[in-house]
Amino acid sequence: MTSKVFYGSPRQARLEAKETLPAKLDLIINELHLRDRVKDETVAIKMHTGNNMVYSTIHPVFVRRVVQAVKDGGGKPFVVDVNWDAAGAEQRGYASEVIGCPVYPAAGPDEKYFYSHERPYKSIKNWKVAGLIQDSSFMINFAHIKGHPSCGFGGAFKNIALGCLAGETRSAMHDVMHFDQYWFPEKCPDESVRQAMIAVCPFEALVDDKKHPGQLHLHMEQCNQCGRCLKIAPPGSLKIDSVNFHSFQEAVATAADVVLSTFAPGKVTHMALATHMTPVCDCFGFTSMPILPDAGVFGSDDIVAIDQAVLDITGQTRLIEENLPTSLEVHTREGHPFRWLHGPHKDPYVALEYGEKLGLGSRAYELVDVLPVEKVERSSMQYIAAS
Ligand code: SF4
Repeated sequence: MTSKVFYGSPRQARLEAKETLPAKLDLIINELHLRDRVKDETVAIKMHTGNNMVYSTIHPVFVRRVVQAVKDGGGKPFVVDVNWDAAGAEQRGYASEVIGCPVYPAAGPDEKYFYSHERPYKSIKNWKVAGLIQDSSFMINFAHIKGHPSCGFGGAFKNIALGCLAGETRSAMHDVMHFDQYWFPEKCPDESVRQAMIAVCPFEALVDDKKHPGQLHLHMEQCNQCGRCLKIAPPGSLKIDSVNFHSFQEAVATAADVVLSTFAPGKVTHMALATHMTPVCDCFGFTSMPILPDAGVFGSDDIVAIDQAVLDITGQTRLIEENLPTSLEVHTREGHPFRWLHGPHKDPYVALEYGEKLGLGSRAYELVDVLPVEKVERSSMQYIAAS
């Protein structure tokens, strides 16, 4: 089945407000019939509000439009994020006076308000869904698009998979990357070789295992799978294998499935803003230079289709390599630019492919441009006259 993804391009024909991204978000809100769907609903707007010095998350101008649409439709909106991002969100402009509704920590201020769902996946036995998410009757999943060091890309899946679970489950999702054994110490009896493997990694991804002295630990987030360590590792002693990296992406899809299962059919919609896309997640506490050109605004009722569309469109653009921090490197140029940056095992498509297998949506989509860019004759710029 083909799903619709509504799309607003960042390009304009004219220098007019009605052709800007906030105006195109309004058109997407109309296409999603948001106002007609939220009467008397308790509406959680899941965002990533960043923390500390982040300024690349979704600008309050966009949030205000979504909040107002929910209010116009008779719904009760509130923004939710994890506790350490919700606390201090007003410092980044997410104050009720600005966006029109309060910002709450989804699982409470101490992350202790949640509902457990049994669903074994590797080392994860149950999933703790944030209380305010499960208590709400409608959810708007409003994602800011960016790179991510664990799964290559943060979009609609990641926004709810990490952001709608309590801290204990978020930690377990990162730990699941270590479930499949990758270090086989009996194949590397020479300590000097083990130390050389640690030393050769330029990203400090390979370290001494704090819990098991004399053993290796791989920080998957920091590893871009360059293969330098494998060149000196004794045969069979170390695996840099997709199964470990893909475990995180499969956990992301599974978490999204669990979260979405708490809503009645038709009670969740997804929006995404692909502007100022940074190499890593908004939770890092800072904003670095954009690494992809702005790609627009998206909306769909299908979480698989919206992430697929976002990746397809951003994949047609170029990695702005001059904006990369010098501590990062590009060692592959195959596939999506986020994959160039974070390595082949962090292919950003993996989570949504797994989500499709779980029955969460369709990778086949129809892209509906809500305001196609017109070709216009050149004309003089319309300045606002000084009063
Ligand atoms: S593959 Fe490269 S980045 Fe990963 S641990 Fe080995 S040396 Fe470090």
